[in-house]
Amino acid sequence: MDNCLFCKIARGEIPSGKVYEDDELFAFHDINPARPVHILVIPRRHITSLATVSEADIPLLGRMLAVANRLAAENGSPDGFRVIINSGRVGQQEVQHLHAHVVGGPDPVGPMLKRA
Ligand code: AMP
Ligand code: ZN
Repeated sequence: MDNCLFCKIARGEIPSGKVYEDDELFAFHDINPARPVHILVIPRRHITSLATVSEADIPLLGRMLAVANRLAAENGSPDGFRVIINSGRVGQQEVQHLHAHVVGGPDPVGPMLKRA
């Protein structure tokens, strides 16, 4: 995707605070961190959303979670973390390239959601 922000970050065309990369995945610090640790894990290949994945993406999704676990431990959240994947309109996804937020730090991250 030529015009996708996170595709450009994964290709190195836009600078980011890279924390990890391999042949399938790329991870970097969120530009506007919500917690002391706030890393985004993305597939290099453009996938719009968790709301649009297919069966063929299952191994990749598993790898994203396994890498999230490792990156949290290695980057200042050794005692647990939270993964958030905002998806589609209702999930209020802002960047239309699949990404897992990995948030944490030394202290608990807070309640999951405010009850409506
Ligand atoms: P979401 O609302 O789940 O789509 O989250 C998008 C996230 O991308 C937000 O937490 C933003 O702070 C983050 N973000 C947007 N632009 C950049 C960027 N250039 N580098 C790093 N993170 C970004
Ligand atoms: Zn993309």
